[in-house]
Order: sequence, then C-alpha cells, then structure tokens
Amino acid sequence: MAVVPTELVDSYGRVHRDLRVSITDRCNFRCRYCMPTEGMVWQPRDEILTFEEIERVVRVAVQRFGVRSVRLTGGEPTVRAHLPVLIARLAALGVDLALTTNGASLSLLAEDLAAAGLSRINVSLDSLRPDRFAAITGRDGLDRVLEGIGAAVSVGLAPVKINMVVMAGVNDDEVVDMAEFGRRQGVEVRFIEFMPLDAQQAWASSDVVAAADIVAAIDAVFPLEGEPRTSSAPAQRWRYRDGGGSIGVIPTVTESFCTTCDRVRLTADGQFRTCLFATDEYDLRGFMRGGASDDELASVMTSAVSRKWAGHQIGQVHFIRPSRSMSQIGG
Ligand code: SAM
Ligand code: SF4
Repeated sequence: MAVVPTELVDSYGRVHRDLRVSITDRCNFRCRYCMPTEGMVWQPRDEILTFEEIERVVRVAVQRFGVRSVRLTGGEPTVRAHLPVLIARLAALGVDLALTTNGASLSLLAEDLAAAGLSRINVSLDSLRPDRFAAITGRDGLDRVLEGIGAAVSVGLAPVKINMVVMAGVNDDEVVDMAEFGRRQGVEVRFIEFMPLDAQQAWASSDVVAAADIVAAIDAVFPLEGEPRTSSAPAQRWRYRDGGGSIGVIPTVTESFCTTCDRVRLTADGQFRTCLFATDEYDLRGFMRGGASDDELASVMTSAVSRKWAGHQIGQVHFIRPSRSMSQIGG
C-alpha cells in the first residue's frame, strides 16, 4: 500500500508549513510595480474560490500536512466582501493567521479583523510623501493608510509590519525616512527588492535597489546589527543597536533564499503553486468542482511539492517570467 506523506516535503528535503492564500485578484490601488493604471483583466467571478473552497484547501493543508501559518493576500484582500467571516473560519482551524493589505480600508476593518481572529498584519507603504504615494499607487490615499496602520496597532494586531518596495530613482531616497517612521511607530519596516512580476513587464534589473545597499543606507544613520537567520523566513532581520526595534530586508533578486523556502501558494482562482516564480500550477479548483475527495486534493498537493524546483533563476539566462503577475498569483 502506498505511504501517504504527512508533510509537504520536496525532493530537496524542504518541508512546507506556510501557505499563502490569495482571495482576489482585484484591487483598489494601481501600484506601478504591480499593475498598470488601465487595462488589467480580472478573473471572472465564478472562477474565484468561494469561502467554503478556500477553507477546504486550508483545512486539508493544516490537518494532513501540519501547515501552521496562513497569510491572506491578493490583489487586495480587503476588497473581498465579508472578509472577517473568512478570517473567523480559518482562525477556527488553529493556524497563525496573517494578512497583507494596502491599508486603505484598515481604519474601518481593523477591529473586526482582530475580533475575527487575525493575528498579524503587513501593510504596504512605499512613500511618506503624499504626492509620491499618489504617483506610486495611483491613489491619493496616504492619510488613510497611515490611519489604518494606527488602527491596526491600537486594536492589538501584533506584529504590524510595513512592506516597502524599494525602486531605484523612485523612492530609494526614502529608506531612512521609512526606517525612522518605523522606529517612531514601533513597527518593523520590511524593505523588499523590486521583483520582475509587474503586469506591465516593465521591470529592469537597473530598477532594483540591492538589500545590501538599503541596509548600508540605514546603518549609516541608525547603526544596525544582524540577527541570526530563522531558517525559513524570507526577511533578513537587523536590529537597531540603540534598542529602537528592527528592520527586515527581502533580497529576492540579489540573494535568493530559495534553499530554505517552506512556502506554497493558492491563487484566488484555485491554482496550487509551489513558488511565486513557478511556471506551472495545479488546478485544485477543477478537482474540487469535479467532486474530488480530500484524499485526492492532498495527493495533488504532495505531487506538486515533490516536483518543486530548487529555486528561481532571476538574473540568469534561463529565467522565465511566470505568465501571471504578482496580483494574479498573490504576493
Ligand atoms: N494588495 C496587498 C498589498 O499591496 O499589500 C496585498 C497584495 S500585494 C501583491 C503583496 C505585496 O507584494 C505588497 O507588499 C506589494 O508591495 C508587493 N509587491 C507587488 N508587486 C511587487 C513587485 N513587482 N516586486 C516586489 N514586491 C511587489
Ligand atoms: Fe494592489 Fe497590492 Fe498590487 Fe498595489 S501591490 S496594486 S495594493 S495588489
């Protein structure tokens, strides 16, 4: 009789305990590093997983394979109606539940999200200058996002982290200001290298600001010391030597962390992926809507993970950009 694995383990021995779930590909922002101002084609609504389907995939991952942490993302997850209902259903599965959001609706939603069982939140914020914020996101909403961050802190979501995508010549002159903002607010800022996943396919390697340069710029003003790496975390963490908190840098492009990756993904339209940059997907929605059992869903997951590649090849000649962009996969 075939032995059914109890972990999502790949051929390199990496055990997968972290599931990213995109719950919509739609968004109320148009961040220039993610999608164009006009012309984004949304997934038809009937192809988007229902709350029941999302809960089912998460339950199988948690109960069969010991997945411990789940992060909801998108698109913008807060544009999905009744988000607190989904949060409550997933929190009941006993996972560490996190959310990544642009923060625009957070001042209205933070309390309900926390009450429903959300534990942690990441809010994207790429500039503290209103005009630049609007130029990057396509929306005049800096104040609302700042209010949202304040609301998340005050309802006790912990930790609240800020995600800043750093782009050369666009906002790289603000990394120290952003670090200072994080110190003042008591939140950790995570500086993310710009990845080749924008829907416009305008990314160029010259747009990337290397994590090492970001750390050097901050260290010159607020001296830092490195923290030991926790094995699977994508962010390298640095502590302020004066005790003022910490920062994270996510060096996807310049120093990939694929060897310790423990992450799998579910897209809003129900495709199971083993890497953000994967060029193949496994159609869990099709299986579920075709009447598959939980055993069959589990077997799709194990076979996908068993074929997971060693890592992405950004910057090398054989890199193939995935056909879907960041907001269609789930960042
Ligand atoms: N809409 C939510 C938000 O913006 O936080 C969640 C989805 S968004 C796709 C998730 C994260 O991916 C955000 O922190 C965003 O800044 C980041 N992101 C989007 N496109 C990116 C790119 N091309 N390179 C690096 N990070 C990117
Ligand atoms: Fe929307 Fe997030 Fe993409 Fe910005 S990064 S356009 S907020 S999905």
